[in-house]
Amino acid sequence: MTSEHHDLAAGWRRQLHQIPGTEFDVAEAADFVARTCTDLGWEITTGIGGSGLVASLTRGTSPRAIALRADMDGLPIAEHTGVDYASKNPGAMHACGHDGHMAMVLGAASALAKDVAFDGTIHLIFQPAEEPGTGAEAMIADGLFDRFPTEEVYGLHNIPGLPAGEIHTRPGPLMAAEDNFEIRITGRGGHASAPHFVIDPMVIGAEIVLSLQTIVARNVDPLDSVVVSCTELTTDGARNAIADQVVIRGDARTFTDADSSLVETRIREIAEGAALAHRASSEVIYTRVFRPTVNDADCVAHAAAAAETALGADKVDAACRPITASEDFAAYARAVPACFAFLGAGEITEGGAAGGTAPLHSRAFDFNDAILGAGIDFFTALVTSRLPEGNRS
Ligand SMILES: [Zn+2]
Ligand SMILES: [Zn+2]
Repeated sequence: MTSEHHDLAAGWRRQLHQIPGTEFDVAEAADFVARTCTDLGWEITTGIGGSGLVASLTRGTSPRAIALRADMDGLPIAEHTGVDYASKNPGAMHACGHDGHMAMVLGAASALAKDVAFDGTIHLIFQPAEEPGTGAEAMIADGLFDRFPTEEVYGLHNIPGLPAGEIHTRPGPLMAAEDNFEIRITGRGGHASAPHFVIDPMVIGAEIVLSLQTIVARNVDPLDSVVVSCTELTTDGARNAIADQVVIRGDARTFTDADSSLVETRIREIAEGAALAHRASSEVIYTRVFRPTVNDADCVAHAAAAAETALGADKVDAACRPITASEDFAAYARAVPACFAFLGAGEITEGGAAGGTAPLHSRAFDFNDAILGAGIDFFTALVTSRLPEGNRS
């Protein structure tokens, strides 16, 4: 691929870096993307699921269609990178590299519009609200796949700590589900010196925190990976007053719907059982924030082949380890055969210094522009292999 599209993408990336929004409030980025795609000859549909948009380009006569996805939102973090293209929007920054994800898909949009032959339709999905895990679902609920029928969806996320420019993916679960739970234990508070007059929810809460660790240790299949973390324990008690209520909040990560159901069931049973044993009452609120990102095996094979064509076999791992972070791409993969992949962003160094990168969600994070070309070439190779010229099937 010529470097023209890589250079354009680097310029776009730095412009996008300056105008971060958060959640669904990404109008500046959406306008930028819409203008850029329009200038490149793509047909734009805006306002899908709020601020989401789709850019479409059809060539030839094949009815086949695939989609490439980028996320547009930043984070509510004050930037401390020191770059001269830093965020112009106080309190918001692209700390997860979604500016780079947009730039890679725009770079592919440039290459596909100008230089690359294909037969069929490409939809570029630009979604808001990846970080809260609600943007993809909003676009799908707004008829994304009815209005833009798509056989396969592909997406990339830059990953600090993986070698720069490598693509890693795997069939099946790649990223975890994130579930949140809140357990309320209501007893009867009173004087700290007179426990025989109260029902102490603190003791019950402590018992529950320990018992929740038996879900992974004793209930989950030991060959599955599950995390159950209690992250908050608050009471309405005081130094010398036993509380009326204890609230425990936490976070669970699973890779299958069955394990997510198992964790929910056991949390409810443990909370209810402990409360009952000590004459208190319990309430459990269990919410599914992200579903597991599960890759289709055929799409992974297509993505791996395209990555090998674009980058060389030594830059591709098609059987990588899953990670326990979560990703809103999961929603597309539940609707359409899909493959999500990691694009290595290079070594993690202190503050991103010495040619390295800071961790994601750090205020020192800046997307590594050196990997833009790998992403662009991967996407264009994917299109030419999935929508080949002369294909009429
Ligand atoms: Zn993020
Ligand atoms: Zn991200």
